[in-house]
Amino acid sequence: MTDLLPFIEGLPKAELHVHHVGSASPRIVSELAARHPDTKVPLDPGTLAEYFTFTDFAHFVEVYLSVVDLVRTPDDVRLLTFEVARDMARQNIRYAELTVTPFSSTRRGIPEQGFMEAIEDARKAAETELGVLLRWCFDIPGEAGLDAAEETARLAVDLRPEGLVSFGLGGPEIGVPRPQFKPYFDRAIAAGLRSVPHAGETTGPQTVWDALNDLRAERIGHGTSAPQDPELLAYLAEHRIPLEVCPTSNIATRAVATLDEHPVREMVAAGVLVTVNSDDPPMFGTDLNNEYAVAARLLELDERGVAALAKNAVEASFLDPSGKARIAGEIDAYTEQWLAK
Ligand SMILES: [Zn+2]
Repeated sequence: MTDLLPFIEGLPKAELHVHHVGSASPRIVSELAARHPDTKVPLDPGTLAEYFTFTDFAHFVEVYLSVVDLVRTPDDVRLLTFEVARDMARQNIRYAELTVTPFSSTRRGIPEQGFMEAIEDARKAAETELGVLLRWCFDIPGEAGLDAAEETARLAVDLRPEGLVSFGLGGPEIGVPRPQFKPYFDRAIAAGLRSVPHAGETTGPQTVWDALNDLRAERIGHGTSAPQDPELLAYLAEHRIPLEVCPTSNIATRAVATLDEHPVREMVAAGVLVTVNSDDPPMFGTDLNNEYAVAARLLELDERGVAALAKNAVEASFLDPSGKARIAGEIDAYTEQWLAK
């Protein structure tokens, strides 16, 4: 299967589930850490890699939040965002919906207007200089409670930056029931944003039902436990509600024991629209190309199968129809050219 990697690397791709701070590579993290020497994050990239080895989901959240703490000024935000886009361009990612948690930054004292200007400035530069289209999903950090939900909804609806397309909910699921966030999702949806909560990553299928029924989810972040409920899988397939599957993340956080036990096969077999994503790639020692290679192995795909998977992400995206057609066309052209070699 590794011989598919060169094909995957050149394949134009879209990514729908990838976190802003969680995409900070060790190089970017050490650059930010050098700006803020009071941090407990190690400065040396080698030690950083060790620091990024997780024992469980709670440990992952702890490490993630210590990196969040390094993003303290609009200039930090701009640097992080543009450098993340540069890593995407290197992987031939043409379009990404980046999950941004503005509450984490504004509560640390970054002025909200300065934050919005920084991400928008990076978005425009990424498009013109790197050819990467970025859109935002503003997500509620579930562990921070309803004040964070209120603040995130306010920032999304009142300050709405041009690139914002969706509203999400992340963080731990255990002890953080989805239905309590309904009023905030209602506000975001009324303002025209799409609903994309994480659900069923570390809890059972009921959390996915809650996301569908209470938060009116149009896509599900992870949905790893969905195959435990055949009725749920059938519902997702029938209503074309895509799953944002992140295989290596699920192993790193111990949501799934081993890659071979990953339920992506059951999802595809049930006819669910599956997309492949990297979640927090440098923290999980992965990137989107590697996630496609993993999915190709688990699903026994050839080049055309991988290309179809890449087109799923385009279809499931919130890009406008002409943008979708353009990237899908690039995927087809690349694949035909590759196979004709
Ligand atoms: Zn996520």
